[in-house]
Amino acid sequence: AKARGRNGFSFYAPSMTGEGVERLRLETFLRRSIEKDEIFLNYQPQVEIDTGRLVGVEALVRWNHPELGLIPPIRFIPLAEDTGFINQLGKWVLHEACRQMVRWQDAGLHVPKIAVNLSAKQFERGSIVNMVADILRDTGLEPQRLQLEVTESVIMNTGDAMVFINDLHSIGVALAIDDFGTGYSSLAYLKQLPVQTLKIDRSFIKDISTDVNDEAIAIAIIQLGKSMNLSVIAEGVETEEQAAFLLRHGCNLAQGYFYSRPVAADDMLVRWKK
Ligand code: C2E
Ligand code: CA
Ligand code: CA
Ligand code: CA
Repeated sequence: AKARGRNGFSFYAPSMTGEGVERLRLETFLRRSIEKDEIFLNYQPQVEIDTGRLVGVEALVRWNHPELGLIPPIRFIPLAEDTGFINQLGKWVLHEACRQMVRWQDAGLHVPKIAVNLSAKQFERGSIVNMVADILRDTGLEPQRLQLEVTESVIMNTGDAMVFINDLHSIGVALAIDDFGTGYSSLAYLKQLPVQTLKIDRSFIKDISTDVNDEAIAIAIIQLGKSMNLSVIAEGVETEEQAAFLLRHGCNLAQGYFYSRPVAADDMLVRWKK
């Protein structure tokens, strides 16, 4: 918005630049998005490469605003984190994901496991374990079928993350390190944490078969996982060549467009219910 200065010059207050206004508008909309039913989840299958069997899904949040349309999570997750709304959103996501597992079960589809992303901010409240336990109790989902995904930076930069992760483990919830290899290179935390799964970041998978460094990193992560008895899943698998490479090097789990894009809950039934 433009304002008239004292001596007739026009100026823009910093917070009123186009970007600031846009952000404020988005923030205001976001705060009401849950109650307005604009938030929903998509689910991306995780499969066993050699058999094509469904081993799980990752829940991915979506925001469909009536005027702005579908807004990608990279645009609203950081905003939700900055404003604190992520706590409400994260709780809604977790609840909905667990509920969906039960709905699929009732509809005759057994999805072995659901992965849900957690933000660093969600660890700062202190009550994350109680929240997860409440949701599991409320939905009746077995804790073993829930896997929480956290990035290395969440683990390294969040004060009590280690404590909360151990607490989550003690109630039976599984843990995956997301975007593995892109964060801190300190691997010491791996042996201290009850982690079950490493997710190889898409950036290392993308150029497999053309970039020898990416290949070397992918192989190293697979080996690391093997020797620490962790399961390793590759994300962003888009081609058969990538899948073949992974299988050849001992990684039998994948997630990516080659198998399926993230889909609506009902579409899971169409493709995967026998
Ligand atoms: P992420 O956790 O690394 O999720 C994987 C992202 O890669 C998803 O993007 C997915 O749609 C995309 N993807 C999957 N397979 C392929 C592929 O083969 N090729 C390409 N090009 N992309 C692929 P999406 O859904 O846009 O989510 C982006 C990020 O937003 C996520 O990255 C995650 O960090 C965050 N996010 C999504 N949902 C949630 C949530 O419920 N809570 C939190 N805290 N973060 C979320
Ligand atoms: Ca993830
Ligand atoms: Ca990821
Ligand atoms: Ca990633």
